[in-house]
Amino acid sequence: MMVGMLSTMQDEPLSLATLLRHAMTAKADSEVVTWTGSEARRMTFGEMGRRAGQLAHALRALGVEQTDRVGTFMWNNNEHFVAYNAIPAMGSVLHALNIRLFPEQLTFVANHAEDKVVIVDGSLLPLFGPLLPGLTSVKHVIVANGDASALEAPAGVSVHSWDELLAAQPEEFDFPVVDERMAAAMCYTSGTTGDPKGVAYSHRSSVLHSMQVCTTDGMALSERDDALVIVPMFHANAWGIPYAALMCGASLLMPDRFLQPEPILAMMAAEKPTFAAAVPTIWTGVLGQLAANPQDITHLREVIVGGSAVPPSMMKAFDDEQGVRVLHAWGMTETSPLGSVAHPPARATAEEAWDYRISQGQFAASVQARLLDDDGNVVPHDGESLGELEVKGPWIAGSYYSPDDTEVEPEKFHDGWLRTGDVGRITPNGYLTLVDRSKDVIKSGGEWISSVDLENAVMSHPDVLEAAVIGVPDDAWDERPLVAVVLNEGVDADAEGLRAALSDRFAKWQLPEHWAFIDEVPKTSVGKFDKKVIRARYADGALDVVELEGPHPN
Ligand code: AMP
Repeated sequence: MMVGMLSTMQDEPLSLATLLRHAMTAKADSEVVTWTGSEARRMTFGEMGRRAGQLAHALRALGVEQTDRVGTFMWNNNEHFVAYNAIPAMGSVLHALNIRLFPEQLTFVANHAEDKVVIVDGSLLPLFGPLLPGLTSVKHVIVANGDASALEAPAGVSVHSWDELLAAQPEEFDFPVVDERMAAAMCYTSGTTGDPKGVAYSHRSSVLHSMQVCTTDGMALSERDDALVIVPMFHANAWGIPYAALMCGASLLMPDRFLQPEPILAMMAAEKPTFAAAVPTIWTGVLGQLAANPQDITHLREVIVGGSAVPPSMMKAFDDEQGVRVLHAWGMTETSPLGSVAHPPARATAEEAWDYRISQGQFAASVQARLLDDDGNVVPHDGESLGELEVKGPWIAGSYYSPDDTEVEPEKFHDGWLRTGDVGRITPNGYLTLVDRSKDVIKSGGEWISSVDLENAVMSHPDVLEAAVIGVPDDAWDERPLVAVVLNEGVDADAEGLRAALSDRFAKWQLPEHWAFIDEVPKTSVGKFDKKVIRARYADGALDVVELEGPHPN
């Protein structure tokens, strides 16, 4: 029995269909724009809504019911945005497949989610075709932006052309009212260990998260923005930007498959976005390209960077050399993803503001956070005590998706909290600073060395393009840091010099003595440093390691 006085308010469910209706009417003139390599293909939100109606009719005609999963295997582009909106609005579940996963993982996630239909971009058929025979639940494939006849379908699977299928359908669809707690969209985490895990976002969580993206202390996304969405739509729903755009009418600039620094800058020159979102590795490339070929990018009011720690040297280069502000944010696939955003407090001095900006940011009002030490005790938010971060809130996952109700990795969730696997500290005013992933922590002689701090410091050296730090076994100290460095082209720095440059920022015992010079830091499917590959190379003896003297005892 419910205790207390019930409100007098309507219980209207939160729904992505409501956002879509709003976007196609109130925000009908906003645009989604896709880069083609030399120019842009444009579609208004009004047109997008009509296409979404046609797609919903087409999917119904193919037998897609409410709650059925529809996969997408696509770049960020206009057609993907249409699918993104039509599928949840008709009560079905969007599953954006990560096109960069290994084939076995892709097969696993499509089968695990039981995708009934997959919408594939024509340019991705060579990748998708070989997977198709292993996708056990797929009955229909729709090919957008390409030639459907190029795909050979196994028995029991029909292939359709997006254009032909949609052209035959009416534009108006009566989007149903669904329970706000029902799944609207799914993303699988890029999973560094074991099988990928599925997160099923609800209509409720997606709408609330969209509001957060639009708040001033979130991304402040609004109709005044042209948002360049480089973060893939399969990576935590492109950080929630597409659904937030339905709410606020921000226009979207989609890079399609043109994700190298040169085309990104060409796209920026042509379309002058006000806002952009991508992981740090993309921006490293863009900054390098800008150094060689300067271009005014001050049309960007802000660039949001997350997914891995933003090296402060990168933020500084944006500030000082480009006149563009970087906004650092933390989140996970499991957190929709916006957890914290690094806007400094209004009354902070310039120096304090910098420290706040390079932190992982302040938690959103609806996201609760706590830190647990190794013994499971909650540690204070004093800006010093370290612990594993746990979060809860209305857009935070409470479990992983399971088709048969067996619990998937239950140890990630306890007492209603999500265990993030991130280790850090929180200030009394709720700003998070991460020092590591729990599995990346380096424990040397019983003390922690932050791989992230070392990486940031090495990457601030003018001769260094990228650096990743891993812990390697050590007889005397248990573990010691190894720095894998990528030097800028044409420079000739050595390990001794790079270590000397760290000496004023780290205690002597923290200074790394193992250095490896590599051509490129291996990256995960969403563009983060893939330390497990470096660890494996080290274990196999495949890394050429320069050994310096050390460590020093204090
Ligand atoms: P994913 O779900 O693939 O986006 O991965 C989420 C993980 O990325 C988090 O648990 C963090 O370890 C890491 N991450 C995301 N944002 C940041 C950030 N701003 N700084 C450091 N690590 C981050």
